[in-house]
Amino acid sequence: MPETAHRLAAFTESVIRGTTRLANQYGAINLSQGFPDFDPPEELLLALERATRGPHHQYAVTWGSPGFRQALARKIGRFSGLEIDPDQHLVVTCGSTEAMMVAMMTACNPGDKVIVFSPFYENYAADAILSGAEPIYVALRPPDFQFDREELAKAFECKPKAIVICNPSNPCGKVFTREELLFILDLAERHDVFVITDEPYEHIVFGENEHVHFAALPGAFERTITCSSLSKTYSITGWRLGYVQAAPRVIAQARKVHDFLTVGAAAPLQEAAIAGLELPDSYYVGLRDLYSRKREVFLECLREVGLPFTEPQGAYFVLMDLSALGFVNDTAASEWLVKEIGVAGVAGSSFFREPVHHLIRFHFARGEDTLREAGRRLLAVRSR
Ligand code: GLN
Repeated sequence: MPETAHRLAAFTESVIRGTTRLANQYGAINLSQGFPDFDPPEELLLALERATRGPHHQYAVTWGSPGFRQALARKIGRFSGLEIDPDQHLVVTCGSTEAMMVAMMTACNPGDKVIVFSPFYENYAADAILSGAEPIYVALRPPDFQFDREELAKAFECKPKAIVICNPSNPCGKVFTREELLFILDLAERHDVFVITDEPYEHIVFGENEHVHFAALPGAFERTITCSSLSKTYSITGWRLGYVQAAPRVIAQARKVHDFLTVGAAAPLQEAAIAGLELPDSYYVGLRDLYSRKREVFLECLREVGLPFTEPQGAYFVLMDLSALGFVNDTAASEWLVKEIGVAGVAGSSFFREPVHHLIRFHFARGEDTLREAGRRLLAVRSR
């Protein structure tokens, strides 16, 4: 029989989604794939009901329905200060997942190199490979996940076509400072490189940390391809609504990639999500407070467990160090956690280029009671 394509040998199925399936099979509390267990805002639910009765059951414009793009442009402008033209700067996609694939395929020729910070969200390596590009890695170094400026400058010497920045970062919770981003922008300008950003956690930042929109840095817009989504901001991960935002010459090409990949995101859901994009600023303050509380509750539980872990500046992930428990690797640890402890987390090695086999990623987008119950179950790891 014919063989399947060789490029698929270079990556595995998603460990995140696989762990979710395992969690469901064993009835574990699922702190692996990051998504909320609570409802979206009431305004969205009402708008969804209305959308089912409207004329929105056929294809929308392939790069996004006009009403959705207009609301999205206003919302982006409100938080970034950018003047977004809904007709020239946006392609609506099926989640930031598709947006990233579109961005890579739009930016890269086969054989091009793409700089990816490690740890990284597992899709980036697969996206680069599927678009014919080769990921090259620059380490974010624990405990604060700073990058070495010389190492990054060296990576830019390898003639990359693009760099990917996940900000706030999944899985390490880093929020890049304006100064770090300006340093990256300077390198990108000197080497004429695209900056592809992934910013679905833009509204989930803690304490003093502030999210900086890369595209809004002085002079950055023309070379930035921003990927983001509504999934985390409005607790609608299953609606699969994301977008690419870039300069018109890039968007003109990205539209083609998107059109031939998926034709479009779900029309009634675009219609309903406008209600989210129009929520007042107070909604975002509330979201930030909500996740700050969850973070406090969960970190307090983890302190009681007594193993080291990262304290995120943004997004909703924690990397916990299980080396003291003596597992052969993190995959074994992750399976044991699901089956014996009843809590699912993702084996950390799926996020690292380096051979890192002692970390488990947990997310805390869960109700406080569920987080406390997960914490109570995790106490049992101490007696291993
Ligand atoms: N971003 C979430 C995570 O890392 C889930 C994304 C997904 O599964 N599409 O868990």
